[in-house]
Amino acid sequence: MVAGDQSDPVDVLILGGGPGGYVAALRAAQHGRSVTLVEARRVGGVCLNEGCIPSKHLARFAAVKSTAEAWRGAGMPAFAGPPDLRAFQKSRQAAVNTLVGGVESLLKSAGVTVVAGEGRFVGRTRVCVQTGEESIRYFDFKDCVIATGSAAVAPAELPFDGGRVVDASRALEWEEPPTTLQVVGDDYIAVELAVAYARLGSHVTLSMLGERPLPGFDADLSNAALQGLKASGIEIVPGADVRGAPAFDRVVVSIKRTPSLDRLDLATAGLRKTGDFLKVDAQLRLDRHVFAIGDVTEGLPLAHRAMMQGRAVGDVLGGQAAAFETTVVPQVVFAAQELATAGLTEQQAKAAHGEVVVGRFPLAALGRAVIESATGGFAKLIFGSGGGPLLGAHLAGPRAGDLIAELALAIEMAATADDLALTVHAHPTFAEASMEAAEVALGRPIHIRRKRS
Ligand code: FAD
Repeated sequence: MVAGDQSDPVDVLILGGGPGGYVAALRAAQHGRSVTLVEARRVGGVCLNEGCIPSKHLARFAAVKSTAEAWRGAGMPAFAGPPDLRAFQKSRQAAVNTLVGGVESLLKSAGVTVVAGEGRFVGRTRVCVQTGEESIRYFDFKDCVIATGSAAVAPAELPFDGGRVVDASRALEWEEPPTTLQVVGDDYIAVELAVAYARLGSHVTLSMLGERPLPGFDADLSNAALQGLKASGIEIVPGADVRGAPAFDRVVVSIKRTPSLDRLDLATAGLRKTGDFLKVDAQLRLDRHVFAIGDVTEGLPLAHRAMMQGRAVGDVLGGQAAAFETTVVPQVVFAAQELATAGLTEQQAKAAHGEVVVGRFPLAALGRAVIESATGGFAKLIFGSGGGPLLGAHLAGPRAGDLIAELALAIEMAATADDLALTVHAHPTFAEASMEAAEVALGRPIHIRRKRS
């Protein structure tokens, strides 16, 4: 079909098949809507193809090496040689393909029509999709969801060149660790890449824009990240000049992502951005029949937020009284040790609530952490005055990323220190640290000395 030909009427049209878009498609289809999903590259979006999944795969690969090294004193034999990153890349691609294939088959079995091509608005309810070099299709939608995600932006002084200077996604594809690597940035992506490549043998310099990694995180987590970076042998340059230094074999820049909206011709549909983003209401509505979810909306650019918005918009499209109104969006960092946070930092909690109670439990006092030589971490819980409700949770240590789920639920349900302290946590597990931190907040710790008042 070529330009000017007739259009196909569709019920729900979703632009972008990342974690926001494909989840919205599946949920809307569950409610009986007929869904057409337009994807310019591969379903799964940045997250599955070049973000969350491959970055965590690399982080885990590198961590297995350093964990084995940490167990050498307990009899684990030394590695015979350096890790084979070329072989790893094959296994990484296989994992990505499995997950993308899984999403494709879910979409197929839900009856979602997937159209390959790049879409843009050509009217209030009309979208044109470039399906090939000379082929174009038009769709007239009843409802549309914009889920086109975001892309990394390079500073003008340090443009990506596809080779030496790259964004984080390209840095996940290397088949050999660079001898010298400069990571420019201080967000979780920069921290994770710096640690992974340092563990794989690169000499890494982290050039941070500010004074500390993970700005916006609770100061204790930020400090834990800094200590872990230093312990991994990474050179830290605070307040760095982003122009980059020619001395490095490779440079990876992670300082900004911007919503992918510029090629959508929003104005043609009477839509507009607010700043860089699309401003939506609690129902994710941008206009009467146009919704937006994921990285194109203001908020933490994270896959689990996009997916939760996808569920919510799918329910709204299904006529349900749904909204995206969560209190917390947890954040996880696969740094030298796993870090996880949900809710308010100590500073924010004090500013918002005045008096708060902080319970901090060191992993050095936890049986499981001693077994795993992971005694440098902690659980820090911040409660309202008198021990409740839980306002913020900050974890450092193994499986922090999994353990934060309990605490996110506790915050959403306004659980108190007593609720956490009185819930039996299995022994010996890292989960016990949260229960113990709640007891510290209540002034009755068992496994650390009680502070005398
Ligand atoms: P995307 O995943 O960006 O998907 C958008 C899709 O839309 C893409 O597939 C794109 O091809 C398509 N598209 C764009 N324009 C058009 C168009 N005009 N027509 C048709 N299709 C179009 N988040 C986490 O929660 N945890 C992590 O561990 C994590 N790690 C990350 C690591 C890295 C290196 C990076 C770069 C990101 C990471 N993220 C992580 C962030 C996460 O990937 C994003 O927040 C998430 O993918 C956003 O989902 P989305 O659906 O909004 O958009």
